[in-house]
Amino acid sequence: MNFQPIIDEQHRFFDTNTTKDIQFRINELKRLKNVLKKNEALLYSSIYKDFKKSKFETYVTELSIIYHEIDLALVNVRKWAKKKKASTGLTNLPGKSYIVPEPYGTVLVIGAWNYPYQLSLCPAIAAIAAGCTVILKPSELPSNTAAAMAQLINQNFDPSFFKVIEGGVQQTTELLQIRFDKIFFTGSLPVGKIVYQAAAKHLTPVTLELGGKSPAIITKDVNINMTAKRLVWAKYLNAGQTCIAPDYVLVDSSIHDSLLTAMKAEIEKAAYHVDHHNYTQIINVKNFDRLKDLIDKEKIYVGGECNVEERVISPTIMKNVEFSDKIMKDEIFGPILPILSFKTIEEAIEKVKTLSKPLSCYVFTKNKTIKNKILNEISFGGGAVNDAVMHFTEQSLPFGGVGDSGIGNYHGKYGFETFSHYKSILQKPFWIELNLKYSPYSDKKLKWLKRIIG
Ligand code: NAD
Repeated sequence: MNFQPIIDEQHRFFDTNTTKDIQFRINELKRLKNVLKKNEALLYSSIYKDFKKSKFETYVTELSIIYHEIDLALVNVRKWAKKKKASTGLTNLPGKSYIVPEPYGTVLVIGAWNYPYQLSLCPAIAAIAAGCTVILKPSELPSNTAAAMAQLINQNFDPSFFKVIEGGVQQTTELLQIRFDKIFFTGSLPVGKIVYQAAAKHLTPVTLELGGKSPAIITKDVNINMTAKRLVWAKYLNAGQTCIAPDYVLVDSSIHDSLLTAMKAEIEKAAYHVDHHNYTQIINVKNFDRLKDLIDKEKIYVGGECNVEERVISPTIMKNVEFSDKIMKDEIFGPILPILSFKTIEEAIEKVKTLSKPLSCYVFTKNKTIKNKILNEISFGGGAVNDAVMHFTEQSLPFGGVGDSGIGNYHGKYGFETFSHYKSILQKPFWIELNLKYSPYSDKKLKWLKRIIG
């Protein structure tokens, strides 16, 4: 399909300046919230068809996050969009300086499959708040959720402002050949590189929300039961298909066994099962097979059961894992948690740093010195101390990676900034001018200028 006319139409609409009007943005955000609220039943049933995600998890990890993002933008968009005063140096007095947030224009948002609603709609919300027009390309893997978003958006919004285009690699490749004013991508590192290269041809700015192996480092002084409870929840939420799930645990060897016992007890307590509506399926057979291959039967401590018909892998913990094991090569992105141990914190930090910069890092400790050492010495996107995953829910925190885990960030006002260009303006009156900078130059003028500009 030729997408160029649709994007041309969005550029034309953007040029009418309609989206520069803050009230227009507010109305469209309200429209989006109303449409989603009215059609929650469709959103729940579609995601259940795709990978049996429960109503509970869909609300907590998808819809509530989208609603909060809209509400925050509704309250703050006027403030975010205001021009901001900046200081003015002696040279330009009595002028004044200010910064004007300007929407980038027509943007492309490419979504990932694991949280298909919020990873597609939260960037779109930020783009709308910033005054952009949006082409949204959700992941094709959860086909029912992609179809639901296409239906709801395309029936309720003017396509020259906000349109969902469904499709996979071919359609995305075609879209990437077209000039956009900004591309926001969530997905894997290899595809992130493809997006970055395509964007470079048009010098289009990008935000890349990627993944990586996020460690959880546990020291010997922790509250073991609470640590186990939080880790188990964070890992097996969405059956481990979470970009910021703890990918592996590095635990002080002196509490290794007690942590394992506590984690096993937490898994049993949670009674994960798709029939209990508290456990999600693996998205497809390809990922199921990939995950199954990662399980080393000799190292299973808990779980390891794989049911291909149901596409379910039970919550699995692997122990005695080494950094050289296969499971430590790439991001796991499923319900398998390798446990490794360390003797000194220096050793743990050194090991983490042999891998790419992770999207998240979790530190469980009561020791302030160790906490500060880890936060200071390991580079990662964002994280939590004595918890995991929950930092994502804080709208006051920018969410994004660093190095191989991504470029740029969003959420709340950071999302607005991601879709805005900050235009710098110096404004001068006509009534006064220092003639020093004008030709003909002289030593005397230079002497005075040096006094003023230093
Ligand atoms: P993916 O890279 O396979 O797909 C992401 C998007 O890119 C999809 O919309 C897909 O249609 C498109 N795509 C796939 N192959 C393409 C190609 N060759 N050319 C152009 N477009 C292509 O990623 P995924 O499997 O959907 O998601 C898993 C990855 O995403 C994991 O690495 C995970 O950590 C990461 N992720 C990151 C975040 C974050 O917020 N940082 C969130 C969720 C997932």
